[in-house]
Amino acid sequence: MTRAYNFNAGPAAIPLEVLQQAQAEFIDYDGAGMALMEMSHRSATYEKVNQEAQDLLRELMNIPDNYKILFLQGGASTQFAMIPMNFLSEGKVGAYVDTGAWAGKAIKEAKTVGEAVIAASSKEDSYMRVPQASEIVVPENAAYVHVTSNETIGGVQYKAFPELGNVPLIADMSSDILSRPVDVSKFGLIYAGAQKNLGPSGVTVVIVREDLIAESPKSIPTMLRYDTHAKANSLYNTPPSFAVYMVGLVLKWIKAKGGLAEVERYNLNKTKLIYDVIDESNGFYEGCANKEDRSPMNITFRIQGKNEELEKKFVKESEAAGFVGLKGHRDVGGLRASTYNAVPLESCEALAKFMKEFQARNA
Ligand SMILES: *Cc1c(COP(=O)(O)O)cnc(C)c1O
Repeated sequence: MTRAYNFNAGPAAIPLEVLQQAQAEFIDYDGAGMALMEMSHRSATYEKVNQEAQDLLRELMNIPDNYKILFLQGGASTQFAMIPMNFLSEGKVGAYVDTGAWAGKAIKEAKTVGEAVIAASSKEDSYMRVPQASEIVVPENAAYVHVTSNETIGGVQYKAFPELGNVPLIADMSSDILSRPVDVSKFGLIYAGAQKNLGPSGVTVVIVREDLIAESPKSIPTMLRYDTHAKANSLYNTPPSFAVYMVGLVLKWIKAKGGLAEVERYNLNKTKLIYDVIDESNGFYEGCANKEDRSPMNITFRIQGKNEELEKKFVKESEAAGFVGLKGHRDVGGLRASTYNAVPLESCEALAKFMKEFQARNA
């Protein structure tokens, strides 16, 4: 079998070694005579899977002891509602930095629950940059400030997070969690759907400072309360056990690679290959994001003044050459290569070569 050059935005590439290990123990997990997904989530075997995944995440991200790690369902999109539900007590507002499509969805959802205000926005720059810390205006009654660490559709990423004093910083890290070291102690809550950098879809990781979830309003339904899942060690109801297991395998893979600093170095080498082709193309390829805010996870680009005909041709020819997922998001058009942790250097080398050849044929 040849593996595709997979540049899908999400669900996205999973390391081959992880898939192979899952395959090897798929039918008979740990000698139990059954698959993991056939087992009780109350079994000692699953308890171990659940605990090991948490312990590895804590180790890799250096998560302090006063933070809980939760494995939830409903995707990052459910977090857009759970955050304001749990944190907007009487008289409080959620402050949001508007950096594009995903931040926009978080804001829209927060408004269905309570009051959300825009603390800063890069809308006037077509979301091609991340607002500076100095642009962020935090209202006095803010319960939190919400940022989108990496805008998956626009292709911009925070290189440094704003320092906000006592107001908890909440970050949607769905598309760049585990791609680089971050100082978790600077955040009140971090969340991420697994299907970009952590494993398959079906589980959402939440890392939350314990004191923040002590007093969620009593009116919130049980499943939408953070304290429900924290108290039950993510076993309040039936968890997405297979997805959590896969996340555990991905975490082991990252550890074997040498941890997050090593993963970051590898990622930057990978994406430099492609950004260099864009920057050295004499304007044939145009990077969308401002250079200093470019994402190493989602490379967004256009061809010669948004030439949609040529972009279509690019997608078609790339597919014929074994590349998958290079069409831009339907809301913004253009082209996008998602280069998450599991995308190997070889795929990026192949794409850089293809891009140069495409330019030579079409410039
Ligand atoms: C993919 C994505 C989401 C949505 O995740 P779901 O798990 O599909 O709800 C939210 N935020 C960001 C930044 C994403 O990339």
